[in-house]
Amino acid sequence: MSFDSLGLSAQILEAIAEEGYETPSPIQAKAIPAVLEGRDVMAAAQTGTGKTAGFTLPILELLSRGERAGPNQARALILTPTRELAAQVGDNVRSYSRHLPLSSTIVYGGVKINPQMMRLRRGADVLIATPGRLLDLYNQNAVRFKHLEVLVLDEADRMLDMGFIHDIKKILNILPKHRQNLMFSATFSDQIRTLAKSLVNDPVEISVSPRNTTTKLVKQWVCPVDKKQKPGLLTNLIKKHKWEQVLVFTRTKHGANRLSRHLDGKGITSAAIHGNKSQGARTRALTEFKSGEVRVLVATDIAARGLDIDQLPQVVNFDLPNVAEDYVHRIGRTGRAGATGQAVSLVSADEADQLVDIEQLIKQTLDRKIVAGFEPVHDVPETGHDPSRRPRKQKKPKKPKAGHKDGQRSGAKKAPKKPREKAEPMLATPRKAPRRRVKPRNNND
Ligand code: AMP
Repeated sequence: MSFDSLGLSAQILEAIAEEGYETPSPIQAKAIPAVLEGRDVMAAAQTGTGKTAGFTLPILELLSRGERAGPNQARALILTPTRELAAQVGDNVRSYSRHLPLSSTIVYGGVKINPQMMRLRRGADVLIATPGRLLDLYNQNAVRFKHLEVLVLDEADRMLDMGFIHDIKKILNILPKHRQNLMFSATFSDQIRTLAKSLVNDPVEISVSPRNTTTKLVKQWVCPVDKKQKPGLLTNLIKKHKWEQVLVFTRTKHGANRLSRHLDGKGITSAAIHGNKSQGARTRALTEFKSGEVRVLVATDIAARGLDIDQLPQVVNFDLPNVAEDYVHRIGRTGRAGATGQAVSLVSADEADQLVDIEQLIKQTLDRKIVAGFEPVHDVPETGHDPSRRPRKQKKPKKPKAGHKDGQRSGAKKAPKKPREKAEPMLATPRKAPRRRVKPRNNND
């Protein structure tokens, strides 16, 4: 199949060709015709599937057929959970619309509001926004939705995880009732389905990669190691394998900072990206990483969500995520668009429970490789995918701090008091390994 048969105009096809896209990805093949028909869409798709073009291209096509946005008006609204994702979606919108007379604007929190208000005066055919800042702008009369035609909720599951449900409800209340709705989510929990019921109307349902499967193009393995040894092991792996562009995930912001300092001290250029960093610092880190100036980007899950880094060869889980589904999101950064990638997880004895959850979720037993010189003193108990095992109740992800929440309104109500960030993982002593009944495993691998 080619893009020519999907009903897009010559200007859009030209922009797609300039991007180097030859064939529509599965989600694009399904979503583009549905959106062009004016249908609501509910799609289960994560980053890396081409979902952004899947909704952006037909929206641009529809908008190009109508009247341009008037002052302070928006015709299409794309809501994203994080600033980075807003910026990336905005970049895509700009690229795909480069031959069309359409305007787009990106607004998010953490930066001055005045320039955004000025830009909105001219109106925006496409407005890309994080929820909190959008409400601030609306409350200051900087944006109006009288002529809104389309609403997109991108990464809806992450929006709910980040506590944006009330902001989303407020936004839905200020939009015209008659509009087209598109909802994208990596997962479809009961909460997402409830939200969907109030949002989409007789939707076309699209699911491109079965829920929670990890891409076959990603080679995944686990390095059992003591917690204290993780920084040394990571340095060793990067140097030994000459990894040049590595995205490393840590569970905490302090963990990310400390690891980044450690790597710098070992002569490996790195930058940390997380919710406590200013927007400028985050954008700079991402640019330097993409250009190769910085070899390692150390990120927390929320900061990394939706990062679009083409053909990233290497992802490292320095800590395993508490929520198994985040593992799938993390390794979704690699092996994109047909490229192969590797994802290695440094797992210490106290992380066996998380490893069990991940292996259950992805329905695979991950290979283990002990690296010479980093043999763990505290063994990681045997794990493995067991179809008969009942899922363990997972901990809810922590809400980010009010002051640093991605895209949250400045001056927004404080989040309820939350526990202090867990001890920085690199320094914590391994807990006694949880007791479990295990199959004997041959440890030669
Ligand atoms: P997304 O899932 O929207 O984050 O897109 C993931 C990556 O795939 C982005 O870098 C896009 O530029 C790229 N991409 C999207 N559609 C196509 C396509 N049809 N052919 C090749 N690359 C694509």
